[in-house]
Amino acid sequence: MLIDSHCHLDAPEFDADRSQVLHDARAAGVVGVVIPGYVASRWSALLALTAAHDRVTPEAPQLWPALGLHPVHLAQHADDDLQQLDAWLTRCPQVVAVGEIGLDRFLPELTTPAAWARQQSLFEQQLQLATRHGKPVIIHARRCHAEIVRSLKRTGFARGGILHAFSGSIEEAQAYVRLGFRLGFGGPLTYPQARRLREAVQALPLHSLVLETDAPDLVPAPWRDRHGDGRPRQPGERVRNSPAYLPAVFETLCQLRPEPVPELRQALRDNVCSALGLRSVGGG
Ligand SMILES: [Zn+2]
Repeated sequence: MLIDSHCHLDAPEFDADRSQVLHDARAAGVVGVVIPGYVASRWSALLALTAAHDRVTPEAPQLWPALGLHPVHLAQHADDDLQQLDAWLTRCPQVVAVGEIGLDRFLPELTTPAAWARQQSLFEQQLQLATRHGKPVIIHARRCHAEIVRSLKRTGFARGGILHAFSGSIEEAQAYVRLGFRLGFGGPLTYPQARRLREAVQALPLHSLVLETDAPDLVPAPWRDRHGDGRPRQPGERVRNSPAYLPAVFETLCQLRPEPVPELRQALRDNVCSALGLRSVGGG
């Protein structure tokens, strides 16, 4: 009984077989999935998707929406998207968080002075919106932990949330924990060469860890060479990640932590629920 704290199930990659993916995830023991939005044009479809699955059933996990403007999609964001976000947050109490928001210093086109200034402005305005609506945030951060922490402090953001797909040092992780954040770990943790990530999972307090897939991206190691239907991956092909693969991340985490498996399962679920103010689901 696990919760996937970060999965882009609304992405077009799942259009052809979304119900089957949900069914497979539930069969794998995933009782809830948080779906962060990334561009305004897809928010209403995301809300429709989560409304269709507003509780856990034998066929599908419960789905929770978050809405945000993702830094990687900077070129698609319009100036009035922030007003739209404000309006959706007012109208839709089922939106659990503002996300996916953040900063990205990995892609060169996002680091020109103009693009960087726009990233920071959108990020900080969304932090302020989250504060105004009393919502936690789901943050994307690549190669810019110091800048993220600076924005959190500059805006006085105090509601916490999840720093997703964490990849950084133990010190950077601890800075987020002090600011009230949980850290999301997914597919990259399952690769034996991810030494720094594995050390972070061992060093951090259990209450600061949450599981995620970030599907359709970041496929876990056991699934990297075959597609969901069993076909072997051909050179150059990409394997689609799935919320049904979350147990592979959980198993790796269990090998790294000293606590008994049932305690870990319960804590990881509770951590997402308290980070995002979710009703606990699924029992057991
Ligand atoms: Zn994401």
